[in-house]
Amino acid sequence: MALNLLMLGPPGAGKGTQAERFARTRGIPKISTGEILRDAVHTGTDIGRRARAIMDRGELVSDEVMIGIVRDRLEKDDTADGFVLDGFPRTVEQAAALDTIMAARDALIVLDIVVPEAELVRRLGTRMICENCGANAPIGDGTVACMRCGGRLVQRADDDQAVVIERLKIYHRQSEPLVEYYRVRPTFRQIDGAQPPDKVASDLDAAIEAAGAGAVTLAKTVDRVLRRGVQP
Ligand code: AMP
Repeated sequence: MALNLLMLGPPGAGKGTQAERFARTRGIPKISTGEILRDAVHTGTDIGRRARAIMDRGELVSDEVMIGIVRDRLEKDDTADGFVLDGFPRTVEQAAALDTIMAARDALIVLDIVVPEAELVRRLGTRMICENCGANAPIGDGTVACMRCGGRLVQRADDDQAVVIERLKIYHRQSEPLVEYYRVRPTFRQIDGAQPPDKVASDLDAAIEAAGAGAVTLAKTVDRVLRRGVQP
């Protein structure tokens, strides 16, 4: 079974850090829509030019553009054994489109990282990224250079305090409904993201095991219903 992971949670919950770890430890590609957009801004593509002002205000890029980006990325062969999505979906419309894209593939395991609002504001105010490659630096550990490429660490333009408040508002309005969208699935799990990163990581690993078992049960039920034509 492919390991199709989806990270949910507000900005600053640690989705990117944990997705990065999954990519490393499980050998699956990390698909971070924020990173894809920041790359596009950096290289000055058409999408990048249009997305820049929207991102600087902390608002969301249109569903149409984002769904196109993710659809194209999921068509690549390296996602056949799994992937980890970080930052997508962010609206119910994006989630519905993702369900269509995933219709013939193994179930998504949805991991929702929960962190209190005050902690998110604190984290986003101190978060640094690499000016050169865009990698996140660990929060508040005094690191001055990027661990990946040695580049200079800077604050992200959209981590400015006024923009952070706007991003959290937009999260509550447009992205939080996704929790209700996915909660009913046997492959949905919530994790306490206010713990140290290693504990969050081990809770996520345990959640994947449990959700994976849920996915197998679901697949068997669907198979039985289809073969026998019985009511679920
Ligand atoms: P992130 O790095 O995930 O916090 O994303 C940074 C910014 O990119 C967001 O504040 C949005 O402006 C934009 N963005 C990233 N992913 C999406 C998405 N799925 N839908 C709309 N906008 C997005």
